[in-house]
Amino acid sequence: MLTNSLIELDRQHLVHPVSSFRGHEARGVRVLKSAKGAIVRDSEGRELIDGFAGLWCVNTGYGQDSIVEAAARQMRELPYATGYFDIGAEAPIRLASELADRAPGDLNHIYFTLGGSDAVDSTIRYIRYYWHAKGQPNRDQFISIEQGYHGSSTMGAGLTALPAFHDGFGAPYAWQHKISSHYVYRNPVGTDPQAIIEASVAELRAKIAELGEDRVAAFYAEPIQGSGGVLVPPTGWVKAMRDVCAEYGILFVADEVITGFGRTGPIFACLEEDIVPDLMTVAKGLTAGYAPMGAVFMSDSVYETIAQGAGPKAVGHGFTYSAHPVSAAVALEVLRLYEGGLFERGIEAGKRLMAGLEGLRDHPLVGDVRGRGMLAAVELVVDKEKKTPLPAEVQPATRLLDRAWEHGLIVRSFPQGVFGYAPPLCCTDDEIDQIVERTRRVLDVTL
Ligand code: PLP
Repeated sequence: MLTNSLIELDRQHLVHPVSSFRGHEARGVRVLKSAKGAIVRDSEGRELIDGFAGLWCVNTGYGQDSIVEAAARQMRELPYATGYFDIGAEAPIRLASELADRAPGDLNHIYFTLGGSDAVDSTIRYIRYYWHAKGQPNRDQFISIEQGYHGSSTMGAGLTALPAFHDGFGAPYAWQHKISSHYVYRNPVGTDPQAIIEASVAELRAKIAELGEDRVAAFYAEPIQGSGGVLVPPTGWVKAMRDVCAEYGILFVADEVITGFGRTGPIFACLEEDIVPDLMTVAKGLTAGYAPMGAVFMSDSVYETIAQGAGPKAVGHGFTYSAHPVSAAVALEVLRLYEGGLFERGIEAGKRLMAGLEGLRDHPLVGDVRGRGMLAAVELVVDKEKKTPLPAEVQPATRLLDRAWEHGLIVRSFPQGVFGYAPPLCCTDDEIDQIVERTRRVLDVTL
């Protein structure tokens, strides 16, 4: 009964993010009630394995009491402090320092946001400030990658290259440009890693030449493209793109909103790519979903340039909830848990997940298996030889998602017929095996 009335209230009043305004009316929203570790319970009492850590964010797993206590302590002591006008609070100051210690290279300056979209949006504004301060205001063209996702703020949605985020209005704007994705499984140059890297480098150079070397402000890349379908570039691809940007003096922005905080193994994926970006964005795993928070990391030179340009004037960018003390207290505790064994557990669980998913290659519908650490995907096809995608009526994300749900598994599905996995790092071996096993069962009843 309770569920029915909630479903009705939901239909009438709650606008859901990235959901059909009509789609949920037929079936009704699924209401989650409680969770512990990697297991969530819905309002019908059904237990599901959360193979997607909420939305690639609950990296610690659910029900971590010490995080709850850290938040409660901070709320009692000081629930809010503005960061405006040179006021601050202890938790965000400590968090910025801890993160700077762990960040690649000289990414020593950190601006806290409420999530990933506003972190990306903030980079656009800081980059514009940067080029003005450098005396090159004409560097106002931005390049990102097809299949990339950089959030859905008004400006960030234009760096995002998924059509659903653009339909019906102006984005991407005229100053936002794209180059092709590395998408190894479906790359027109074939699957050879070196050929893919060379093609991407050539395309980036050509795009820079087309726009004008002195016009390009920044290039954005996810170390692994997440919402585009978990697209893992060949080893060396990220570094090759970073090197092209350095050659032309273009700022390289690494969007680690998904890949940060142990998702692929290390705290930041850039560390295993052996690159230092000029700016980096994070969110999700920063607070493991227990409170909203994102961050922009800036290198010494980006920060100093903006500082010099502004002089004693305020840099006009900020939100009421920037550097929120409760979110910062949560993030500090989350970091302690990661380094108290969760990163190691994630690496072990990730190996098991990848091995398990690789074992699905014998299934007639599995065209590709890819991933790194606890970030993975299985791409479904009806003809392996020709890589023919699933028929349109089976593809829609909700159809696959519904089937997985019936089998006690939460995964994400992407429009081209891809299952995505991002389980909490705390998953037990048995839970990992169940994720794989339940996927096989879902595949057996697909088509
Ligand atoms: N950047 C990347 C790479 C993301 O995957 C996401 C969200 O999935 C975002 C930015 C936007 O983050 P948020 O949803 O917290 O606004």
